Amino acid sequence: MFVDTSLAGTVTVSTPPMNIITHALAGWGLATMLPGLSRQEKTWIVAASVAPDLDGLGLLADVTTAKTDSPLFWWSEYHHLVAHNLLFALLLSLAAAAFTWKVLLGVAVFGSVNLHFLCDLAGSRGPDGYQWPLHYLWPFSDWPAWAVSWQWKLNAWPNVAISLVLLGYVLWLARQRGTSPLELVSPHANEVFVATIRSRFPLEQRVCRDL
Ligand SMILES: [Zn+2]
Repeated sequence: MFVDTSLAGTVTVSTPPMNIITHALAGWGLATMLPGLSRQEKTWIVAASVAPDLDGLGLLADVTTAKTDSPLFWWSEYHHLVAHNLLFALLLSLAAAAFTWKVLLGVAVFGSVNLHFLCDLAGSRGPDGYQWPLHYLWPFSDWPAWAVSWQWKLNAWPNVAISLVLLGYVLWLARQRGTSPLELVSPHANEVFVATIRSRFPLEQRVCRDL
């Protein structure tokens, strides 16, 4: 997401819609690679994959105060900072482990948050070229400020390609294993979705013949 607050009193927002979806699909991919997780545990991992972008909610404050005498700039000051660091990853991991009494889930949540960071490092360059460096040790230190020279833009084709691959994986899993991200919000919706996929792409019928 890119916000231009350069003109006094105006806030222009350009949001590549795939971004948050890509993060969620990556989280789902991670959750489905770990065997034996409950619906609640998968939800933790997927939520962790998008949670860092909660620090972008400062945008609401910026937009609502843009035309006042005291405009706020929480977006530019805190996005990719407050929830994009090691401390946030650790706190969310501890919360997951504490709520579920499962240390391994805490480890998975830690991995999911850091997967989000890696995705941002690779493909979140703004339209203006800004790289949104990752201040991993914030708030204790502004150093390091990680960024990679080959980072592509948010709306660049690799993000679209990755999203499509992940979407294909979701559809494949729905057909093969009968599971999809929909089960996180509604098992019934998941059943309907899986039935729809399987009606279009039926599972192979195994024929057993007596010899
Ligand atoms: Zn992010």
